[in-house]
Amino acid sequence: MKKILYSLLLVLAFGSSTQLDARPYDAAKVEQVLAQAHALYKDDKSGANADYIPALAKVDSERFAIAVVTVNGEVFTRGDINTRFSIQSISKVFTLALAMEQKGAEAIRDKIGVNATGLPFNSVAAIELNEARAVNPLVNAGAMATVSLIGGDKAEQKWQAISAWYEQFATTKLGVLEEVYSSESNSNGHNLAIAELLKSYGRFYGDVDINLDIYTRQCSVGVTTKELAMMASVLANGGTHPISGERLMSADNVERVLAVMTTAGLYETSGQWAYTVGLPAKSGVGGGIIAIMPGKFAIAAFSPRLDGAGNSVRAQKAIGYIADKAKANIFSHQD
Ligand code: GLU
Repeated sequence: MKKILYSLLLVLAFGSSTQLDARPYDAAKVEQVLAQAHALYKDDKSGANADYIPALAKVDSERFAIAVVTVNGEVFTRGDINTRFSIQSISKVFTLALAMEQKGAEAIRDKIGVNATGLPFNSVAAIELNEARAVNPLVNAGAMATVSLIGGDKAEQKWQAISAWYEQFATTKLGVLEEVYSSESNSNGHNLAIAELLKSYGRFYGDVDINLDIYTRQCSVGVTTKELAMMASVLANGGTHPISGERLMSADNVERVLAVMTTAGLYETSGQWAYTVGLPAKSGVGGGIIAIMPGKFAIAAFSPRLDGAGNSVRAQKAIGYIADKAKANIFSHQD
């Protein structure tokens, strides 16, 4: 019954369908919208690759891909769909999900914080300005502290837990992009300073070097846009994987992860994103962005040039276009 309702919602979202068959919505229409989004923004050269991590500056700026995975497990793709890039901060969403499953939603709220900082992703001031030293799990400070919450006595055990968790979402093996990992490890002084500062305030829950290294590894995981959309589809489907059928997280925890994505997923421009697009989303400085329409689908887009806040320019535009065409906005009244 639930599946049929989802299908009907997809019909409404992506346009008319003449019949409810195995493909209950108009697949051609979805393909067309993705093609339009790609064509509209493929020549947009605004923004620039991240360069504070030297390996990211070398990524081909012209790469551009879009993928949609529906809660029924159907996959639509466009562009450079086989290009592998570093997941970067989008990893924070999935490590948050794991920490929440392990420690509970209250622990995240109390030990990390869940309010937007309104400041850049690597802000030291955000920690200093807030008396409780609370940040949120989607900025660097909170994300490193979230890694420190993950269970496991040894670094390797912890890393295995995190990478296996990502792979369950992606339904495939994923690896670390070694060039990105070593480049980021060699230019990580700022993150080290943030982690030490949090630790000095009693807001970091393990060894700084070990957890910083795991955080750096998780940011260097390589994904394709399709794999990213696949990972995000679990959040669109209330915690159950649309493909494997496996429940990976509780529906309650999905709601909380989506809440933090809504307020902090695009850093200091999260308010503007919610105002214009209205979908929980998360960006990474590798050029990827995921966006979730709960109960319907997940979108992932990738292109390396970023705006001043660190969000991919083309990915934001493509997702905004698709969301608009699909009438997907979590703040909309749904009939
Ligand atoms: N690994 C990056 C860092 O720690 C992630 C930042 C991002 O993607 O926003 O700076």
